[in-house]
Formats: sequence, C-alpha cells, structure tokens
Amino acid sequence: MKKLLLLSVLGILCNQVYALDIVYPKSDTAVINSPKSFFIGSADYTKPLYINGKETDVHPSGGFAQQIDLEYGKNTFEITSGEDKLIYTIIRPKPNNNGNSKPPISVTYKEIKYGEVTKDNTPLRSTPVDGGINRMAHLPEGFPLRLCGESNNFYKIDLGTDHFGWVAKSAIKQKQEKVNYVQILGTEFENDGKYYKYTFHLTGKTPWEITENNDLELKLYNITDANNNIYQTQYSKDRLLAGKKLIGYNGYYSGNDFILKVRQPIKPHKRKPLKGIKIAIDAGHGGSELGAIGCLGDKEKDINLLYAKALEQELRSKGADVLMIRTEDVYVGLQDRVELANKEDSVIFISLHGNALQDNSDPVTNYGSEIYYYYPQARPLASYIMYHLLEKTDTVNHGIKQASFAVIRNTNAVSILIEVGYLINPSDNAKILDDTFRKDTVKAIADGIEDFIKYQK
Ligand SMILES: [Zn+2]
Repeated sequence: MKKLLLLSVLGILCNQVYALDIVYPKSDTAVINSPKSFFIGSADYTKPLYINGKETDVHPSGGFAQQIDLEYGKNTFEITSGEDKLIYTIIRPKPNNNGNSKPPISVTYKEIKYGEVTKDNTPLRSTPVDGGINRMAHLPEGFPLRLCGESNNFYKIDLGTDHFGWVAKSAIKQKQEKVNYVQILGTEFENDGKYYKYTFHLTGKTPWEITENNDLELKLYNITDANNNIYQTQYSKDRLLAGKKLIGYNGYYSGNDFILKVRQPIKPHKRKPLKGIKIAIDAGHGGSELGAIGCLGDKEKDINLLYAKALEQELRSKGADVLMIRTEDVYVGLQDRVELANKEDSVIFISLHGNALQDNSDPVTNYGSEIYYYYPQARPLASYIMYHLLEKTDTVNHGIKQASFAVIRNTNAVSILIEVGYLINPSDNAKILDDTFRKDTVKAIADGIEDFIKYQK
C-alpha cells in the first residue's frame, strides 16, 4: 500500500494523504461477469479523481468508490488523480446460451429406494434448491432415508403421506437395506434445571422438523400410527416458557431416541442482567480468509477482530461470560465456529463483519448497518441491537434481514451476524476505522444484548 504521511497544509490536522491505489478489482486485468461493477480504492482527496473522464468524489479519509458499466468484451478504464494514472482492463465474457435454461427433470420412482446420508450436517430441504430459507433439519452422517423420486441434483425424500423433502444427491448413497416407517415406543420428560428435555423412544431413526411460529412445533415423519404418518406436537411458549421468549433449543438423535432440548428462561441478575451469561463473539474470517478489503486497503478480518476484542471488553464489564471464537489472525471453519459455541453452551452468538457488495450493486448508495438472523428466535436480539446502534452511533439502518449464513444456522444459541457497515463505501469505511465509532458500536451491541436478556417477554 502506498500511504504517504504528510502534514496538512494548515498544519492543524495530521491527515494521511493516499496515493492512487485500487483495491477492487483486485488486478488491472479482471474478468467480471456482470453488466455493472465498481472501482474501490484510495486517492489524494485534495486532487480531482477521474475515471474515464468522469469526476469521482474522494472522501476526506482518502477512500473512493465508483460504479461502472461494463460492455461485453474488453473494457478499458483510465483512472487519474493529479499526476498519477492507472489503466485497468476488465473483460465481461459474452454469455453462452447452451444449457442454462434446461427445465428440471423430475422423476417419481415406481418403488421406494433407500439411502443414507454420507456427510454430517446435511440439510433436509423443503424445496429442491441449494440455498435460501428452506432447511427443515440437519441430518447426521449415516442417517437413513426413503427416496421416492428425484429432481435434477436432488433426491425427493418420503416424509409421510403426500409430504416430501429434498436432499442433495451428492450427500446420499443408495443402499439395499430397507428403511421402514418407525413407531414411538414411549416418551419421557426431564428438567435438568437448565433445559427442558423431551425424549421420544423410537424403533429407528426418522426425519424430523422443528419450526418456530408462535409456538415451537415438532414433527416426526414416517411414524406408523400417526395421522398421515406425521407425528406433530406443539410446545406452547406460554405454558413451557411462562410466556417468555425462546432462547435456544436443539433436536438430535442419541441412538434411536430423538431428543428435543429447550433452554429454560434465564433469570437475569437485577443490576447486571448479563452476569454469568455465556456469549460467543465470532470475529468473521481470519488467516488465509481476508474477507472484504476496505477502500484504504484494510482487511476485514483484522477489523472484525478489533471489534470483537472491544466487544469482549464491553461485555466482560457487564459481567458476561465471553467466549471468543478467535483471538488471533487464524483460519477457523464455519462449522467449527458454531460447534465451539455449542460445546460451551453459549446462549448468544454474535458474528461480526464488515460489508461488501456483489458486482452489480452500487457501493456509493449502499451504506449503514445490517443485522442478519436465520431463526425467528434471533430477530428480537437483532432489533434491540439495531435500536442501540441508531441511538449511539451515526450509522443508518440498512436492514434486519433473514439470511442463510452458516454461522447463524444454529438453534442452540440465539445467533445473529452484524455487518457493522460497508467497508467499500468511503464514508462507512472511514467510520468503521474510527476509534470512537468502534467504541460506540460495541457499546450499542452490548446494550442490545443486555436488553434482550433483561426483557424476556
Ligand atoms: Zn465478512
């Protein structure tokens, strides 16, 4: 990076003046398959910056962002700032129309086939689509399934009378051994002081689904003596949790026993609601995985860690029992992050990130904080945190959104992912790098978590 530290002309401020540098696209010859993209980088803000003759604003911090249009084939860009000049070539490949629009090939088998799951944590989906909010359950390796058809890359899974799910073919191997409907031999209830635990003794493993609506609902599929071969039971939040909100649950097998565990409401300490509450802080990316690159060349993985450590301090000062998923610049797999949090029985899981965009979006008009959740139980936490972010910092609300990110697809802890701001937006980027903004942001996050625990209804 070409940072030149110069004293400002007035001699009052010590401003960092940046030489012209592009951080995106990553090289001066790039292939981008999109009608629009952008340049992100740094430049001397006292000089006009031009991209192919069009003047581009440079933020006083030195960052800039500019959306560009791309024609098919070769696009050449000349970027000038004072004496500095860079030439970039971006290739936008012509589309090839062979194959993409094939209709799905769906087949229903005349006779049921049998299979088993070959990978741990394989999603059972409600639609034959690899993505989105369509996960019914996560199946462990070796899990038996009844295959009743297929559609493109998915097997259609028998889940009782006229009810189906979908699992990627790549995660199933067919087998000869029959997979039958099962029976519920008996049920048990246990209160261990921390969890309510419901055990279903079954004659074999069978798919399940847990949904959070007003109440928590459990379905066990392919049960011989249930209506439509689907056993359904509801756990009323009013009765089970005395009207308090859901803060974690899990469904899993232990042998042929299916177990549903629901965390009991926490009795928060009067003055220090977070006292003793286990909170996992996940600094996004790390090691070989850099994350986004800010306008001035800062790496998201480093920024996330800085925020994580500041949040750790803030939460510890409130008495929380903090688990740091990483404290150094190391790579940690997504599933490992979740498993670590679950092993320590974390109640809350906060993943910290800085935002970037796909090529087709505008880095100038997209800015502010976003909070993502996957399961409805985590939405109130996102709302409390957003409320405090807007109150304590000058960020804007770029949305509380449901999204299928691996680290927040965890039901044991109330899990959210916070995009503090846009690293590729010059103004947001300057804020994110600012010490005061960071302090205010982690304070807002900690206060949001505190409210979530304090107000349990
Ligand atoms: Zn990230």
